[in-house]
Amino acid sequence: MNLYDINTVKRILSKHGFTFSKALGQNFLINPDVCPAMANSLCAEGKIGVIEIGPGLGVLTKELCRVAERVVSIELDKRLLPVLGETLADCSNLEIVNADVMELDLKHLISEKFSDCDSVKVCANLPYYITSPIIMMLLESELPVDEIVVMVQKEAGERLCAEVGTRGAGAVTVAVNYYAESEILFDVMRDSFVPSPKVDSVVIRLKVRSHQPFDIKDKRKFFSTVRCAFSQRRKTALNSISNTMGVSKADAAAVFERLGIEPNVRAEKLSMEDFVKISELI
Ligand code: SAM
Repeated sequence: MNLYDINTVKRILSKHGFTFSKALGQNFLINPDVCPAMANSLCAEGKIGVIEIGPGLGVLTKELCRVAERVVSIELDKRLLPVLGETLADCSNLEIVNADVMELDLKHLISEKFSDCDSVKVCANLPYYITSPIIMMLLESELPVDEIVVMVQKEAGERLCAEVGTRGAGAVTVAVNYYAESEILFDVMRDSFVPSPKVDSVVIRLKVRSHQPFDIKDKRKFFSTVRCAFSQRRKTALNSISNTMGVSKADAAAVFERLGIEPNVRAEKLSMEDFVKISELI
């Protein structure tokens, strides 16, 4: 069955009475080059276990089953289960879990399903309405996952993979950088999907760090300081922090002065180390 052929896709969908849900970010890949490239980009030393989020019709799932020892695919839309039963009938190393990925206990799932694997990875064409929450949940839960290869909206990918301290950086850049090394692997044009979204995409790789670069005592406070510093992008980091963190401007200014940070600097110019020190003193 050729799932990249638009007529085959239409026939399967109509057989199962399936209609696309925009709310669930259902844009399915029909470009035959993308899924093999994503699966092949996983670092496949030893036996690898892969978690996929949102298999859709199963195009990427099929490729993941080719390179992995075991694949667990998490799909929220239960209308897709009978479709996947048909399209992935010959994948014996696959298990499909019908759940919202944000509600699952992934630590438990990993220890239950992948105990015989040398490493566990996440690979997915993510639903765009919750890209950042999913990535932050995967990183902040500190799961035993060493690599995340995902397709995201191009703009989001550029933000996630920007360098901290540069114009393209945002709060999510700092958070991702704390947990992982990031890179953009390749572009995917909007006409690679059905239905075609209004934006282009990129595939990114996050190599999860085995040790974080800074020893942060209070991570909640650190991430909240970062979010507050970026929350008013047109304002200085100092004003943004004092406006949104419930700290007086004089107190925030004293912290910046003590650290030798210019009071008129914007959040995008601050380094990881600056954020760590500010969050410790503020
Ligand atoms: N992997 C398929 C592909 O590349 O053609 C489909 C990708 S589509 C962009 C996103 C998929 O994620 C859809 O199948 C959608 O139903 C599923 N999805 C949306 N929200 C989800 C959630 N919270 N948890 C799990 N799956 C979700």
